[in-house]
Amino acid sequence: MSFRTIIEPFKIKEVEPLSVTTEEERVKYLREAHYNPFMLKSEHVLIDFLTDSGTSAMSSKQWAAMMDGDEAYAGSRSWLRMEAVIKDLTGYEYILPTHQGRAAERILYSHLGGKGKVFISNTHFDTTRANIEFSGAEAYDIPVEDAKHPMLDKPFKGNMDTKALEELIKKHGAENIGGVILTVTNNSGGGQPVSMANAIEVKKVCNKYKVNYFLDCCRIAENSYYIKHREAGFENKTYKQIAQEMFALADGGVMSLKKDGLVNMGGFLALKDKKLADECTNLLIITEGFATYGGLSGRSMEAIAVGLQEVFEPAYLEYRIRSTAYLGEKLYKMGVPLIYPIGGHAVYIDAAAFYPHIPVTEYPGQAMVCELYVKGGIRSVEIGSVMFGKYDSNGKLIPAPNELVRLAIPRRVYTQSHIEYVIEVFEKMFEGKDKVRGIKIVEEPEFLRHFTAKFERL
Ligand SMILES: *Cc1c(COP(=O)(O)O)cnc(C)c1O
Repeated sequence: MSFRTIIEPFKIKEVEPLSVTTEEERVKYLREAHYNPFMLKSEHVLIDFLTDSGTSAMSSKQWAAMMDGDEAYAGSRSWLRMEAVIKDLTGYEYILPTHQGRAAERILYSHLGGKGKVFISNTHFDTTRANIEFSGAEAYDIPVEDAKHPMLDKPFKGNMDTKALEELIKKHGAENIGGVILTVTNNSGGGQPVSMANAIEVKKVCNKYKVNYFLDCCRIAENSYYIKHREAGFENKTYKQIAQEMFALADGGVMSLKKDGLVNMGGFLALKDKKLADECTNLLIITEGFATYGGLSGRSMEAIAVGLQEVFEPAYLEYRIRSTAYLGEKLYKMGVPLIYPIGGHAVYIDAAAFYPHIPVTEYPGQAMVCELYVKGGIRSVEIGSVMFGKYDSNGKLIPAPNELVRLAIPRRVYTQSHIEYVIEVFEKMFEGKDKVRGIKIVEEPEFLRHFTAKFERL
């Protein structure tokens, strides 16, 4: 398309008012939330970029389908619709519904995991790693070298290092590999895409050593967009065909439908192998629900069946990827340091480079998150030493590799004028930025401290 303006390929039928607050009020709300945006009330947030998970707006077709939900315990018509859509997309025979992605992960990885087992991924998402480690197994991340250079402009920085993959398999022994997991797009790696060529390379290694190959396919539609536009030979294929080609390479897939399912809750596990599927179905019935609903209501399964088709529509994907890039490119031109190129679902800002006067021990990312809220009512999340920092035996901080702030963009929720507003807030972020102070932690739990820690401004 040759127009400058990215129009939203939908019009508005129902509106949810945003709460407009003053800076003075936000200073108070942030203090009451102990400078932790996870503790803010959402009604005090103007633009919510905390996550793209489960925050999508549903279409009128999805809402209409929900009215036709069949809430039968077994053999629900809505399940059959959802199953048919997933079978068509993945080409896999066995589909297990779950209430969200991590439930599918728990079933598959607790079954294949356990002490002595090893999983290998381009980058394990945090719930993936947690489920693997909880089973007693080990998880190794092997992103390509390009991924380690935040500003390097390369098309597929989400790829897996296949040389390292082969070495790890040899080192641990093929019989001890629980699975190789290709995360598309690579969420924890900045939302960067994975090429088909890389997915094929991974397949070759997995075939050679006869190890399980799974896709963590939460954002496979977004990934397909990048393949069509950046990888030779895919120009004339549809987004869905590209996704189908990638699924055909693997032995199974785990999906959080809260991302590219365009719904607020849901997930699935899809497998080629009957024996593995039967074993996983036993676990599904024990903890999630019967095999034809797995923790989902009939109406949710209807919304999923429609959402999984809408997400591959060209006008939607064009809008989705271009509008995220639009925000990132504008910030980049303004001089905001960030991970480049811009990923599919979020913009990741380098807060340590933005506030060079704030040492990592005073959490520059958390300082930026607080400033964004106070100045513009924008909620974002720190992905740095608050989230991933550890302490050594003397209680000294071992910082995370990067001090990032993530602006995750919910699907179909905000318009271009919301995005223009966010850009304006960033212009204000430059005013007096040298005087912004760091943050200290005053109270923290032992695990996943970013959710509930309390902070103070220095
Ligand atoms: C969100 C996500 C998950 C976990 O899904 P939930 O629905 O949040 O449980 C797993 N992997 C990736 C890559 C994700 O983005």
